[in-house]
Amino acid sequence: MIDRERLMDQKSPAILWLRQDLRLADNIALEAVSHHLFFAVYIWDDEDPWSPGGASRWWLHKSLLSLHRSFQERGVQLILRKGKPLQVLKHLVQETKACAVYWNRCYEPYVIKRDQEIKSSLKQEGIFCQSFKGSLLTEPWEMQTTTKGAYQVFTPFWNKLKEISFARPLSVPDLQGFKPSVFSESLEEWHFNPTLWGRGLEEIWTPGEQGAWDNLSGFLNDGIQSYASRRDIPSGQYTSRLSPHLHWGEISPTQIWHEALLSCGKDSLPFLRQLGWREFSCHLLFHFPHMPFQNLRVSFSDFPWQDNPDHLKIWQTGQTGYPLVDAGMRELWHTGWMHNRVRMIVASFLVKHLLIPWQQGKEWFWDTLVDADLANNAASWQWVAGSGADAAPYFRIFNPVLQSEKFDPHGLYIKQWVPELQALNSPHIHSPWKASAQILEKAGVTLGKTYPFPLVDHAFARQRALDAFAR
Ligand SMILES: Cc1cc2nc3c(=O)[nH]c(=O)nc-3n(C[C@H](O)[C@H](O)[C@H](O)COP(=O)(O)OP(=O)(O)OC[C@H]3O[C@@H](n4cnc5c(N)ncnc54)[C@H](O)[C@@H]3O)c2cc1C
Repeated sequence: MIDRERLMDQKSPAILWLRQDLRLADNIALEAVSHHLFFAVYIWDDEDPWSPGGASRWWLHKSLLSLHRSFQERGVQLILRKGKPLQVLKHLVQETKACAVYWNRCYEPYVIKRDQEIKSSLKQEGIFCQSFKGSLLTEPWEMQTTTKGAYQVFTPFWNKLKEISFARPLSVPDLQGFKPSVFSESLEEWHFNPTLWGRGLEEIWTPGEQGAWDNLSGFLNDGIQSYASRRDIPSGQYTSRLSPHLHWGEISPTQIWHEALLSCGKDSLPFLRQLGWREFSCHLLFHFPHMPFQNLRVSFSDFPWQDNPDHLKIWQTGQTGYPLVDAGMRELWHTGWMHNRVRMIVASFLVKHLLIPWQQGKEWFWDTLVDADLANNAASWQWVAGSGADAAPYFRIFNPVLQSEKFDPHGLYIKQWVPELQALNSPHIHSPWKASAQILEKAGVTLGKTYPFPLVDHAFARQRALDAFAR
């Protein structure tokens, strides 16, 4: 039973439980808690099977610092705790006599189950609990096919989504901070800020709500108009780079949706469509919770994958001998991000040229991407592998050389990330093993020494993949 008297008693504080919603504006749980005196808590859940990987932890560290500062300016305290969320929340309720807990929903299968248990347990103790939609345009269960089922094909999903008119984003409410006399762990003690690797990430990213808005306005001023024609070019910044900000909820999809439409109306649809893919991935994860580890298409269950730790390592470290693949894997390691087109190419190379299970690529991405997201990562890997919903057919095998010639024609992206090929020009930079000894010598490239020979021959690998698929 909810103790309504306690809820209305202005002296009892409420708790805002922050998760993937690290922002002040358009935060519906914050709006709800702002009617109380309140404090915020971020809980690091030790038992989460999909605990963020290394690059995401770095992001989280910086984003919490930024949010802490924003709260501090408004007199709100942010408490950090590690442990089981139910226990942590129960302790905080006891320590502060809090009457209510508010949060925005997340959709990872483990989190859905955990949060349901937390809600019912706290409610039994008379604590008011309310959760909200804070990180999606539509709830995964709201979108239904005409037969009331889950969507498995993107186009009809998108056709429906794009017709919805979404409520205007909320502004930052007036906040009434409460100073609980409880301890907070220190962010430094969580050791999420690697000094060496973090340096590369720091050069590129500004985690936090302000950083998200800077990226969005930069993109709206100079990018969205040419998005459709340039989004596949990896050299240069032709996409929004909002993915990590979106994952951690430093900006909401509703804010982006409205700002993009305001800025260039229907011309923004090719960009907004990508937000549609984000919604679709989450829809799939909700309805098919095994998606992060099991093929969605059962026909893939007996696929003859090859476990090859040496090849996996060569791929991870960007030493495959295919310049575009290597450039992508090195960009990932250095910046925690990789261009979408290149993600598709490197993923296809791992799964189809090397026959390594997509789950192993997905794990590497999980640890190294600043935007690692269970739904987007799993759905995209299954899309590339051909085992997912509405996936690329398995027999469509990217040729990494043709892709390189098409999307990086002057080799600018390759030169940035594979400096040992700097002095090679097109067409040789796309396939150095085809260049004459004279050209290689002039460019200072010794295959097998300064840059590797191709790990596998494309024609051989393509045929092997097709045979495996046929079997
Ligand atoms: C193998 C593979 C793994 C991926 N793993 C992730 C991941 O872990 N996290 C992640 O956010 N994206 C993932 N993506 C999707 C996509 O590559 C990134 O979202 C995109 O590159 C982010 O850059 P951006 O913000 O500039 O995107 P923009 O092109 O500016 O798009 C705007 C937003 O739309 C969303 N979006 C764009 N493309 C996709 C897509 N294909 N699927 C779902 N959402 C999309 C992102 O939130 C993105 O920020 C993956 C793609 C592949 C092929």
